[in-house]
Amino acid sequence: MSRIQVLDQVTIDKIAAGEVIERPASIVKELTENAIDAGATSIAVEIKEGGISFIRVTDNGCGIEKEDIPNAFLRHSTSKIRTAEDLAHIASLGFRGEALSSIAAVSQVELITKTKENTFGSSYRIEGGREAAFEDTGAPDGTTFLVRQLFYNTPARRKFLKTAMTEASHVGDLVMRLALSHPEISFQFYNNGQSKIHTSGNGNLKDVIYHIYGREIAGHLLEVNCETEGLKIRGYIGEPLISRGNRNFENYFINGRYIKSNIIAKAIEDAYKDFQMQHKYPFTVLHLTADTQAIDVNVHPTKMEIRFQNQQEIYKAVSEAVGRALHQEELIPEVEVPE
Ligand code: ADP
Ligand code: MG
Repeated sequence: MSRIQVLDQVTIDKIAAGEVIERPASIVKELTENAIDAGATSIAVEIKEGGISFIRVTDNGCGIEKEDIPNAFLRHSTSKIRTAEDLAHIASLGFRGEALSSIAAVSQVELITKTKENTFGSSYRIEGGREAAFEDTGAPDGTTFLVRQLFYNTPARRKFLKTAMTEASHVGDLVMRLALSHPEISFQFYNNGQSKIHTSGNGNLKDVIYHIYGREIAGHLLEVNCETEGLKIRGYIGEPLISRGNRNFENYFINGRYIKSNIIAKAIEDAYKDFQMQHKYPFTVLHLTADTQAIDVNVHPTKMEIRFQNQQEIYKAVSEAVGRALHQEELIPEVEVPE
């Protein structure tokens, strides 16, 4: 055995990047979440070769101050929380301060950003965690991240990437969910120069569902609108007749964050039990708004899993909200058409 040594920062970042950055879609997730946190009303995502060689995310958010740019790429550097107490009531999508350092550790990143208050913007390049260029530049308000050659310096990880087509479909799915999670933001997605998604950002969730899933599904929706103490549930669920053979169409968001949750999935599926056959899964797009103190999002680096302070309450509220929407439809009386 050799002697024990503390690793250098570049190596530490490379190792840690593995937790957050698995594939191009992980980068797009982190960059778009940052754009949302920056107050953007319009976000464009462009990829080439499934995002492996090229990802560009452009937003019209608040931008980053020149002096803050190098810090933004340091591990555990964030503008979103200040102290451990803040972890108890997270209102932003990000807070761990890990994404930019992780992305920069395993790719070649170019950042162009400008705040409203400044006349000039900045352009910054960082490759494999090392600063490569930093200069003033003309730029529109907002931020553009360009990420090239993912895993160029970690061939072992690069080998695990799937084909460009598969990676592109992961990115597409992600942008779809982002658009559903924030109907008030206009999302654009281009794959190899072709426009795939373009939502208006008019705030109408049903319009987004129509744009993404088409008329067939948008024409068979039931509205959910329930409020219990500390929890609001809004959105749409599909009539049982459009249920599918897998869970891919069960979308639910909590405080604007796409999550996976066994308890919510069970609540939804239990509510549908009397309305559809076994092994069918409903279409849902549900927005849950909870008190930030009632949930813990600091469970996993990707923040897809969260903990609820009171699981039982969430289960009850969701299954009742969904159940009520389903029953409501049943209660609509059949109108007899006079001869
Ligand atoms: P986190 O999102 O957890 O704070 P990140 O590593 O993703 O950590 O980003 C670090 C910081 O860089 C953010 O806290 C934010 O201040 C800044 N930042 C990143 N992306 C943007 C963006 N698109 N617009 C404005 N600021 C940004
Ligand atoms: Mg972030």
